Amino acid sequence: MRHGFKAEAERRAMAAREQLGVGPMDPIDPWAYAEMLGVIVLSFNDLGLDQKHADQLLQKDPESWSGLTLKEGARHFVLVNPVHTQARQVSTMMHEIAHIALTHVPKQVDISATGLMLLSDYPAEQEEEADWLAAAVLLPREALCHYRRLGWTGGQICSHFGVSTQLCDWRLRMTGVDVQMRRAKRA
Ligand SMILES: [Zn+2]
Repeated sequence: MRHGFKAEAERRAMAAREQLGVGPMDPIDPWAYAEMLGVIVLSFNDLGLDQKHADQLLQKDPESWSGLTLKEGARHFVLVNPVHTQARQVSTMMHEIAHIALTHVPKQVDISATGLMLLSDYPAEQEEEADWLAAAVLLPREALCHYRRLGWTGGQICSHFGVSTQLCDWRLRMTGVDVQMRRAKRA
């Protein structure tokens, strides 16, 4: 990850919350964030797939995809896998929006017959940045410190913010919040 990106992500996350009028301690709705950025959220039916392909993507192999971003002119469209858990859809949505907010350029762009561009396969560094920013927006560092100080468990934090335990654990670890709390207790 490029130097300074982590600090930039925290700043961007705070700015996004401020713009949306959501305080650092409160859960944020990625769908509202998408709307604020002018990103159009599609539903699976909007794709107009035939039954066979729809079954393949939703029933036979729902683990094969989480979300996708399409572009038409300057306009972005995002779709998340509707059969995944709500917590997972939240992560996916925020991840896709992070790519858009960071103006990432995918390695691959597929163009449909109607001229829609499917943006996919971002370079590894951009995937990492999108993960980092998405987690920062969903779980502000300040909030993690605050709720840990109140003695909240990871489970309480993740249900408050509507995210998966996996994302919450990752963020607690990557921000070093728990390490910091332990040190503070010892001091
Ligand atoms: Zn990605």
